[in-house]
Amino acid sequence: MRLTTHLYTLQLRSAFHVATYSRTTTPVVLVRIECDGVVGYGEASLPQYLGETQETVCEFLHSFNMEQFDNPFQLEEILHTLDHHAPGNTAAKAAVDIALHDVVGKILNKPCYEVFGLSSKQTPLSTFTIGIGTPDEVRAKATSVRNFPILKIKLGSSEGYEYDKAIVRAIRDVNPAPLTIDANQGWNVKEEALDMIAWLHEHKVLFIEQPMQKNMLDDTAWLRERSPLPLIADESCQRLADIKKLYGVFDGINIKLMKSTGLREAFAMIHAARALDMTIMLGCMTETSCAISAASQLAPIVRYADLDGALLISNDCFAGTVIQDGSIRISDMPGIGAEPLPETLTWLR
Ligand code: MG
Repeated sequence: MRLTTHLYTLQLRSAFHVATYSRTTTPVVLVRIECDGVVGYGEASLPQYLGETQETVCEFLHSFNMEQFDNPFQLEEILHTLDHHAPGNTAAKAAVDIALHDVVGKILNKPCYEVFGLSSKQTPLSTFTIGIGTPDEVRAKATSVRNFPILKIKLGSSEGYEYDKAIVRAIRDVNPAPLTIDANQGWNVKEEALDMIAWLHEHKVLFIEQPMQKNMLDDTAWLRERSPLPLIADESCQRLADIKKLYGVFDGINIKLMKSTGLREAFAMIHAARALDMTIMLGCMTETSCAISAASQLAPIVRYADLDGALLISNDCFAGTVIQDGSIRISDMPGIGAEPLPETLTWLR
């Protein structure tokens, strides 16, 4: 099998601010794997704060000999070898995993969700994310997305809890939708975090994502014992092996393909979390419809989805799964269900 890479820069529709950083573009590496005339696509999305870059992805992928494999159905062996080629590089590994699943689905002429044994008829609603902004900015944003049945609100701003409350009040002025809250590790003192969660509990909030620093597991466990709302791990939960230490600390986990090294480990994480009766959320980075369509293949088996990544960019170069008014319509095309748009095809060859 032959692997080629293509560099691309996602343009965000508006600058994205969360507790720890802010940005207007996201670099990605698109991956193409060809196997006996069948072409599969994958994507590594590389928000600057996570450490991988287009250079590290290309270096990692070009140092891996994909041509030693000729059978894409040997996913287990190929992905195990890839994972042990070098540590880290989780987005680069995800790009290969996604492209291989695309090849496998296309050879079988089945969408990946069917290969995973799932039905596209049962999908959760997807949230739409509102980043940190002034109360006026978030009020305007919350007004413009009234069609979304659930909103995900970024809090944990450096301005403190009163500013976070002002953001929630501004949204509540114009939008009655249930909210999920992502503090992005922004609350540092457990007693203060508990007061904040108690306040949020009165404002139609479903759960809190990553309230405290990713390594503050004792404080998070203290918080969880007292919290009226479920706590979901994001930054604390990267890969399958992390779930062990999160059991009893969080109520659930947020799985993202760019953290989990792709669909195969994400599916294993779903099974592990289900066995432990933990809530499962499926998230994303800013990504094209390539990686979003891949993630959506697992949506039927999760409780919450936050798959708005392609809606946040103005230059999506793939068409696939559609997220409209919060509904996830998984593409019925074989594989990951996404194809490059015609103008993109020329430079992807
Ligand atoms: Mg998060």
